[in-house]
Amino acid sequence: MTKADIIREEAAGELEAQRRQVGALKSLKTLFDTSLIGIYILQDGKFQFVNARFQEIVGYSENELLGTYSLELVHPKDRNMVRENAVRMLKGERSSQYEYRTISKNGANKWIAETVVPIQYLGKRAVLGNFMDITDHKQIEEELKQTLNELQRSNAELEQFAYVASHDLQEPLRMVASYTQLLARRYQGKLDADADDFIAYAVGGANRMHKLINDLLAYSRVSTRGKPFELTDCEAIVDEAVSNLQMAIGESDAVITRHHLPTVMADPTQLVQLFQNLIGNAIKFRKGHAPEIHIGAEQSDGMWSFSVQDNGIGIDPQYADRIFLVFQRLHGNEDYRGTGIGLAICKKIVERHSGRIWVEPNNSEGSTFYFTIPMKGGK
Ligand code: ADP
Repeated sequence: MTKADIIREEAAGELEAQRRQVGALKSLKTLFDTSLIGIYILQDGKFQFVNARFQEIVGYSENELLGTYSLELVHPKDRNMVRENAVRMLKGERSSQYEYRTISKNGANKWIAETVVPIQYLGKRAVLGNFMDITDHKQIEEELKQTLNELQRSNAELEQFAYVASHDLQEPLRMVASYTQLLARRYQGKLDADADDFIAYAVGGANRMHKLINDLLAYSRVSTRGKPFELTDCEAIVDEAVSNLQMAIGESDAVITRHHLPTVMADPTQLVQLFQNLIGNAIKFRKGHAPEIHIGAEQSDGMWSFSVQDNGIGIDPQYADRIFLVFQRLHGNEDYRGTGIGLAICKKIVERHSGRIWVEPNNSEGSTFYFTIPMKGGK
């Protein structure tokens, strides 16, 4: 091979390498031009490069942007924060990520999420920025925050209302109840028959109202008087609930069986109340025969799932949600006594423990109430 051949070959190789480099740069340019993310390069705080998406987000053309200070696009309230980030970058930080508002050409504010990294561009120090329009996200986030605030506020207001109403109504009600009872005792049979009936209705009404108000107060106390969670042995809890129900169990010949029950993080007093309400209902809503109640617990997805199964009258699935609402009952007071607050209290207790409660019909007869409690303890 002659010297000329060697020089020719070397030149061809160099040309090929240059062609490849140009090809790579073209691909990179296509990537920048078609990117869904705004990309820009700054030198001395001024735009040196802006891709199509960047221009689209801010509404200015490449010509209008190149050579202008990037801070001019930043909302005055966010300028300090963006400037401080730039200073940190100059001091050697390797990358920075932040959110701010930008002012686009038509005057609209847009929320931007941005990542910037220091680079070398045309032999000089520069900053490469990735720029994403998150205005829609921010708007949804803001709306969600507002809805949550509103919900928390109205919830707190409702709870306060329920507490104050039930608490403050107790005193006047006690007066009405005790004076109607006094009337009944003193004037029973001394006035006419109608008067006896009227007084009996008044006594009955006052008693019932007394029960309703007490229940409402108990309901609002689930959140206002809740105790901190502690390690709670559910075996002991069910023992206590069963012992509190001894009379009903004796009268109905109820048989209560159970699997081994776990220890959970919970408010023990509320857990007794929860089991007592569910077992009490299983006894109260029995069919003609003696109640057979089974209490179980299974693990699934980080939760303990408890069940209280009965062989009672069962619940029509269409009312499965309604029965957990305050004062909602499926039967008249003459058939089964009660105020309809027990399951609402159960729901509130379970939700305070970050769990869920529901009911399912059994295959044969009766129904099973389930509730979950996180294995690591609720909030
Ligand atoms: P209460 O027992 O005072 O009526 P609850 O809130 O405890 O109030 O129950 C609401 C309604 O749900 C009851 O009136 C009853 O109709 C139904 N219910 C609750 N537990 C059972 C059960 N184990 N079997 C059948 N029905 C039930």
